[in-house]
Amino acid sequence: MDVREGDVTVEVPEARHGASEGAGSGVFYNPVQELNRDITAAVLRVVADDCETYLDAMTASGVRAVRAAAAGYDVTACDVDPEAVELARRNLARNGLDGDVVHRNVNAHMHEHGYDVVDLDPFGTPIPFVDAAFRSARRYVCVTATDTAPLCGAHFESGVRSYGAVPRNTEFHAEMGLRVLLSALVRTAARYDVAARPVLSHVSSHYVRTYLELSDGAKAADSQVAQLGHIDHCQRCLWRNTERGFIANPIRECPNCGQSTWTAGPVWLGPAHDSSFVDRVRESVPERFGTAKQAQGLLETIADELHEPTHFDQHKLYKRWNESSIAMDEFLDSLRAAGYEASRTHFGGTTFKTDADVTAVRDAVL
Ligand SMILES: [Zn+2]
Repeated sequence: MDVREGDVTVEVPEARHGASEGAGSGVFYNPVQELNRDITAAVLRVVADDCETYLDAMTASGVRAVRAAAAGYDVTACDVDPEAVELARRNLARNGLDGDVVHRNVNAHMHEHGYDVVDLDPFGTPIPFVDAAFRSARRYVCVTATDTAPLCGAHFESGVRSYGAVPRNTEFHAEMGLRVLLSALVRTAARYDVAARPVLSHVSSHYVRTYLELSDGAKAADSQVAQLGHIDHCQRCLWRNTERGFIANPIRECPNCGQSTWTAGPVWLGPAHDSSFVDRVRESVPERFGTAKQAQGLLETIADELHEPTHFDQHKLYKRWNESSIAMDEFLDSLRAAGYEASRTHFGGTTFKTDADVTAVRDAVL
């Protein structure tokens, strides 16, 4: 089956057979992730002045490598599956593009070769590949994670094992997943005296995607580690509190309603995006891309998001209050009129971020 994506046409398997990692599992192509790949292509345009080489670490059909090559990159694609390697080679050739396609364990490959951009797009957790990725990458590491249940605390033990953090299944679960992933990535980079700074992150269609800009140096890495911390959360009234630091200092009892609270962490509490970077990416999404409208809308929302580490859902708050919810614009205006900052978020149509706590939100809008 042929698929047109961006400026390229690639052959992909007729049906999904499973993951691309692991011999004999079949080649994997996920049409749901065209949005992810369109945004990646736009990111590659934005960073092209600094970056020349790109590694598609688990290439499968080769679609990411082909799109990066079409964007002018010197690409390498890697897969352990010989069928994937053959398919990726055919897909580069049919688009008239050059690139190295390597049949190898990608961790071994990354230990021996450096790239300006390393892209991890595994089926499931990226954790088995992140150490080697931060050793290999010079400028950017891009990471997809599809194991959202462990990340957001729905599969608690699995999340603790994979990510070395305590996730909690809160009502802002998508952002919990993002911040648990970022925590693990920042800590992994720091082990090699590398500072990993998230410049764009989104949670869409059951996957998390983030782009990390790298800089070398123990001090720079320390300043990223200093942005890790914990979230205390009350499930009854949805009050929450964040505190930086590796050592948790749980509050235990909600100061708002008295319910016992639970604590997640260490999670990433710093910015999950850089607004000027996100704006440049949005301007670099060509109209001809299949998901252009969706990508531009998503990026516009992200660029305007406040850097608060958690968000609220307006409908869930009103339900707790036994009141009828109001239109989002009116709701946000009420918060601003009361002197607080407020923004929508990309996590859902009724979600918002604010510097007001849950009692102040209620006072401002009821
Ligand atoms: Zn409470």
